[in-house]
Amino acid sequence: VGRLTDPSECAAIDARLQRCGQMLERQRKAREDAEAIAEDGLRRLYLRQQRSELLQRVATVANLTSSAEEAYARAIEEICTHTGCVIGNVFLVEDDGRTMRASGIHQLSSPDLLEFIAESRRCRLAAGVGLPGRVLETREACYVPLLADDENFLRLDAAQRLGLVSAMAFPVIVGAHVNAVLEFYSAAPLQQDAELLETLTQIGLQLGRVVERERFTRKLTHDAQHDALTGLPNKVQYRERLEAVLSSLGSGEHDGVAVMFMDLDGFKLVNDSAGHHSGDQLLIDVAHTLGRTLSDFTGCDDGAEGCLDALLARFGGDEFTVLLWGPRARGAAPGIAQALLSALERLRLMVDGITYSVSSSIGIAYAEPGARRSEDLMRNADLAMYDAKRSGRGRITVFGAELHQAAQERFSLQSALGLALERREFELHYQPIVSLNEPEQVCGFEALLRWRRGGQELLPPSAFIDLAEEIDLIGKIGEFVMAQACRQAARWSGSSAPYVSVNVSPKQFKQDRFCDQVEEALVTSGLAPDRLRLEVTENIAIRDPERARATLHRLRDRGVRVSLDDFGTGYSSLSHLHRFPFEALKIDRSFVTGLSRSPRNQGLVRAILDLAQTLDLEVVAEGVEREDEAAMLRVLGCPFAQGHRFGRPMAPDLATQRLAAARARSYDLRLARCA
Ligand SMILES: [Mg+2]
Repeated sequence: VGRLTDPSECAAIDARLQRCGQMLERQRKAREDAEAIAEDGLRRLYLRQQRSELLQRVATVANLTSSAEEAYARAIEEICTHTGCVIGNVFLVEDDGRTMRASGIHQLSSPDLLEFIAESRRCRLAAGVGLPGRVLETREACYVPLLADDENFLRLDAAQRLGLVSAMAFPVIVGAHVNAVLEFYSAAPLQQDAELLETLTQIGLQLGRVVERERFTRKLTHDAQHDALTGLPNKVQYRERLEAVLSSLGSGEHDGVAVMFMDLDGFKLVNDSAGHHSGDQLLIDVAHTLGRTLSDFTGCDDGAEGCLDALLARFGGDEFTVLLWGPRARGAAPGIAQALLSALERLRLMVDGITYSVSSSIGIAYAEPGARRSEDLMRNADLAMYDAKRSGRGRITVFGAELHQAAQERFSLQSALGLALERREFELHYQPIVSLNEPEQVCGFEALLRWRRGGQELLPPSAFIDLAEEIDLIGKIGEFVMAQACRQAARWSGSSAPYVSVNVSPKQFKQDRFCDQVEEALVTSGLAPDRLRLEVTENIAIRDPERARATLHRLRDRGVRVSLDDFGTGYSSLSHLHRFPFEALKIDRSFVTGLSRSPRNQGLVRAILDLAQTLDLEVVAEGVEREDEAAMLRVLGCPFAQGHRFGRPMAPDLATQRLAAARARSYDLRLARCA
């Protein structure tokens, strides 16, 4: 107790107590600071985690949806929840890339806020104007801490009425362009937060990927349903629409659907002579012309006659189709087809000073009780179109049951024709070619193809040659004819043995190995080349005259002679005669029939003979059936002839007999002269 009365000791204790107090205070402060730092760190960590989760959720939405609209809606919902914003709103950038409008996609914490959206939808913002405009221009996320202080904010009145205080916005970027701006408004002041801005920027990029994916899908869908050249619907879309229209028909309705197939006549010629680029241009022009013409007919007719809808499509190549549906379809189809034909006939394409024109053949088929499946209708329209094409340029055929019958017959003919070669059903008959002054003597035989179908009926080439061409059999048939004719001619020996004349189709002539084929036939048969004559038409020179000339020269160098067949029916006879190494020409039967009664034909034949003499060509008149025709040809000075008057095409053994008889007669004649 005595020690406590010592004042100096008391002072020392006080000082120590004070130091203790200060130390405790410092420790408390330090602990508080440490706690605050830890709390702030935790808060930041929490926020970062929240934002990362936000980004993660938006990314998931972006991955799952292919619709940008849906992705935007989900993103603004997530962001509003995360930030406490009361409005989320989407502005879409227009095609010009410089202006935007509110999209109608928004998120509101209360219906009262709709007023702000209505105000937004009245704005059309240019780049740089207002909050969205600034984001469009800078392509960066943006904060507006206090709307009232912002000089470049257009909807301030509405914002203040609704108690909106702060805002932020960020762009959705696709490639190099801003596609949309997402804006958010809060009723409490927002703190500037660089990390949040970074998160929003990342969300903008995620949403950009959805837009990109949506565009790509849309393009794929469009491409899958449209023709790339003309932009018209393609076969896929046409078929889909046809099926939809057919399935919407009531069971009693059949008049409501017409299918039209059209195929341009002469398009190949444009493509081949003016080039593919011009051909493409012509197809584009055709598409426009057809579309314009169709639009004159479609639509509703004051309800009186009902409505008519149409779909124009390109099936590829030069094939176009029209689908017509509605109560007026059947009645209107023929008139529309006629209008389409007339419009096409007026179409002109100029290339290098040459004017090209096209026409078309159209086949029409209607939905009928027995033909209501899309494939039936399309097949029927196709059959009708082929029929139109066969009957000449610019025709229209409406499908009827007889066409189906004809198609079936054609199909059976085609199957039989495909087997004819291996079944050895082809034979050659020989028609004599004689000197008009000595008609009993046979100078040559034209080998003519016959098909003994199924070993029974004998068919002439006109019954099957087009079909053979279609099924690509013409080359093989040509090869058979060449070999067979040479073999037969080689059997006719002796000093005055006749030549054999073989018809060569343009397709066969243009084959790369045509000359080899001729060579093979000559070598195998042992026939002297000068006893083989090839008959070609002017069509061999279409497309590649230089190549045709080279082939003709090769044949001539080999000693084979070439005649120009059907002379006078082609389109530029003179130039071909002059430039190509022909050795003979055959006057077409159209000049010979009724020659003695036609001064015009006499004049023409005389002119041809003069021309032939000038060019040193031998001449054979074809199709001489009557003696008066033969007599007139003699008067005109034609040296050779062929026709029923001098002998029909005959089987090889009859031809051989005919030769023997002619020889015997000439022998008798010589004997008589000697006697
Ligand atoms: Mg001929």
